[in-house]
Amino acid sequence: MKKWDVIVVGAGPVGSYLSRRLGEKGCRVLLLDQKGRTGRQICAGVIGVEAFRRFSLSEESILYSVDSITMVSPSGKRLRHATKEPMAYVVDRVVFDRALLEEALDKGVEFANLSRVLGVERTARGMEVECRRLVNGGEVRSFEAPLVVLATGYAPGLLASLGLPVYPGAVVGIQTVNLMRGVDEIEVYLGRSVAPNGFAWLVPTGGGRVRAGLVVERDARLWLERFIRSSMVMPRVVENHGPVKATWIPKGPIPKTYRDGLLVVGEAAGQVKATTYGGVYYGLLCADHAVNTIEEAFRLGDFGEGALSGYQEAWLCEIGEELEMGARLREEAGRFTDGNLDRLFALLGSDGLLSRLRAAVRFDWHKDAIHFFVKHKLARAIFFEGRNVEKNIDNGSSGE
Ligand SMILES: Cc1cc2nc3c(=O)[nH]c(=O)nc-3n(C[C@H](O)[C@H](O)[C@H](O)COP(=O)(O)OP(=O)(O)OC[C@H]3O[C@@H](n4cnc5c(N)ncnc54)[C@H](O)[C@@H]3O)c2cc1C
Repeated sequence: MKKWDVIVVGAGPVGSYLSRRLGEKGCRVLLLDQKGRTGRQICAGVIGVEAFRRFSLSEESILYSVDSITMVSPSGKRLRHATKEPMAYVVDRVVFDRALLEEALDKGVEFANLSRVLGVERTARGMEVECRRLVNGGEVRSFEAPLVVLATGYAPGLLASLGLPVYPGAVVGIQTVNLMRGVDEIEVYLGRSVAPNGFAWLVPTGGGRVRAGLVVERDARLWLERFIRSSMVMPRVVENHGPVKATWIPKGPIPKTYRDGLLVVGEAAGQVKATTYGGVYYGLLCADHAVNTIEEAFRLGDFGEGALSGYQEAWLCEIGEELEMGARLREEAGRFTDGNLDRLFALLGSDGLLSRLRAAVRFDWHKDAIHFFVKHKLARAIFFEGRNVEKNIDNGSSGE
């Protein structure tokens, strides 16, 4: 049997990037994926410029540059944030994912597609990965390595089978593609009447194509149909173009992302933004921490929990506070009424608050913007104290 140093499960952006980094370090890496063709079909594909710079991501995958975003309140109030330089890009996920995979293959990573991992077990010799080929009669094969990395995207079943704790909950992300006129920037729609405890989006990709989607906790198809048929969207639809696709997204990280011989990385670990559920950038950041830990484990020849625990400390140090603040905001936002949101939009649009907020907003990091709201008396009333909102607004409180 061929010897592997690391087996990576999942050739999404996170698994491919991590495999490439290990390949560069001389690791013998086997990368397994159940799909025949890489590239996630269901994704808004909005990835910040910071991620592109930090990870030298594929420019070929860019469909659209994002230099403005309009947020729309339940009653249709609009707030626009525009920048001189692009803040993000909209990518073709098939090209994007494929480029990362190609880079891994260039570094000697061996890739087996159509290979569904059924289970991972610790044996006396290390870790054993059992997988079924999804062609040729479904042959079941096993591979061994001292270390396995799960980068499968949302996978509660696989995590539970490994005795790992699962996510603190999940939302459904759903999306379709329409041909539309007059959508030339990202539009984000908020409110219970649009996407309860979530949000909806229109993301242009060029040539009149627009990704229309939303995240909600349940009844995603109904909410998407309603959103597309709404007066905010329908008048601009030229043609319903693509199929509707839906999938789960974890609401937050699993409490433990390592075990003897195993690390969990990317969306599989719930390393997604707590505010927008975007997972590509945070997954790549965490993959770097996984690579550092793996390198150290090989240096020590120790693949036990103790040696791998540094991974969790490192990624929590980089994104933990962001995830925690975002989760708290989301919890509070669950109590918002559409009236609260409309008042917040009115407040932001009225007293110069928006320009001050802009200084705190960064595309991939939302902690400072949340702090800003916490510190601002009136915004805090709207965000965090529900009923006090009306009292404060009626009192004509001027804020900070
Ligand atoms: C509607 C929607 C919109 C989104 N929009 C954005 C966005 O704009 N920006 C952003 O950053 N993120 C967005 N996301 C989230 C983003 O798509 C994910 O966070 C990202 O793809 C995670 O990357 P990953 O490599 O961890 O996992 P994935 O991209 O999910 O890749 C996992 C891979 O593992 C494979 N796999 C799974 N199970 C097995 C198994 N048992 N055996 C073998 N292979 C397996 C899969 O086939 C897949 O190729 C969106 C998600 C949804 C649902």
